[in-house]
Amino acid sequence: MSEFLLKPRICFGQDALSALTDVSAHSVLLVTDQAMVKFGLASRVTNILRDRGIAFQIWDDVVADPDIATVVRGMKLMDSRYPDLVIALGGGSVIDAAKAVIFALAQTRPDAGRERPCFVAIPTTSGTGSEVTSFSVVKANAEKLVLVDPSLLPDIAILDPTLVASVPPAITADTGMDVLCHALEAYVSTAASDFSDALAEKVVQQVFRYLPTCWRNGQDLQAREKMHNASCMAGMAFTNASLGITHSLAHALGGVFRVPHGRANALLMAQVVAWNADFDGQCDTAAAHKYARLAHLLDLPASSAREGVASLLVAIETLKEEMQMPAGIRDTAVDATDFERRLPEMVGQALRDSCTPTNPRAPDAQALTELYRRTYG
Ligand code: NAD
Repeated sequence: MSEFLLKPRICFGQDALSALTDVSAHSVLLVTDQAMVKFGLASRVTNILRDRGIAFQIWDDVVADPDIATVVRGMKLMDSRYPDLVIALGGGSVIDAAKAVIFALAQTRPDAGRERPCFVAIPTTSGTGSEVTSFSVVKANAEKLVLVDPSLLPDIAILDPTLVASVPPAITADTGMDVLCHALEAYVSTAASDFSDALAEKVVQQVFRYLPTCWRNGQDLQAREKMHNASCMAGMAFTNASLGITHSLAHALGGVFRVPHGRANALLMAQVVAWNADFDGQCDTAAAHKYARLAHLLDLPASSAREGVASLLVAIETLKEEMQMPAGIRDTAVDATDFERRLPEMVGQALRDSCTPTNPRAPDAQALTELYRRTYG
């Protein structure tokens, strides 16, 4: 038996934040970060709570790629004034921190007799889809650990594109390529289904159509809305179909060298597509045929699997170039000697990453080492 889980209620559109006026609460914990305070986004939430006379406390110093110390800080805060509503407002880092805090507090205080609070996730990047996934990524030393549990799923996701307009071009590019990577990996995953395929196909088309516009003009709310919805749909696809080794390799690269998550995926994506497709060999794998189908949907030349994969690879590289993204790991200031020194550690992390088992082609250490070296450039 297979299954496809659809959990959060999704409120979307340019006035979606107003959904907060309907969520019942007496005491709120708002989880966010300094950028949300600086850009006035946190106050858009607190103004609604104030107008409704709801008490709230703010945890506003979540850092990018939250680590265990960050989660422990959040647990202490939440434990001290236990809320009946948690609102996470921010990128994937903020949403993942809130998820991990709620989860870990429930695990460590099972006798407290407290109900799990209602959990509202409000993404402010169009990237991770964390608002609809049962994943939370937490760093332990230099390793990103992926928690996977259905209880991590938010109850409500609010997709308001006006909250994404302030994302600068470089982060728009990184996070947008993360969306593309989620769709590509869910599409060829060994756990893909008709349901996840339908979502992934729509996402890939919307990314190629709207991401360059978002990068050029962040204030284009129509393009922002399309990317925000695509990010969420990609999350719905991969929370069910899981991912593949682009993510495994990116988690390790990000954990060891602090390369932002979406950028790491963007760097590795084309090499992994080529490897999954066996592009240097027969190019006749199931993944190759699915990539070619995507190329066809993008109106690119795809008369054979090889031609389709080649078209998709060119399209990925062209999208990166258009947004002035680094071509290889070398261009991200990761030193060549350090890279070689930490390579076995990264390969070990990627092999045991929870995204690896659903990759369409099973990798060994040698294959992952080669993929890293090719991506270094
Ligand atoms: P992020 O949350 O780390 O944010 C990147 C930067 O953008 C931060 O400095 C943040 O303050 C800033 N920012 C966010 N919103 C902004 C806005 N509206 N205006 C201006 N600046 C803004 O980046 P991300 O890519 O959203 O999340 C990455 C994290 O999510 C990584 O740790 C990654 O491993 C994890 N992740 C989780 C899932 C999941 O399903 N849980 C999936 C993929 C990735």
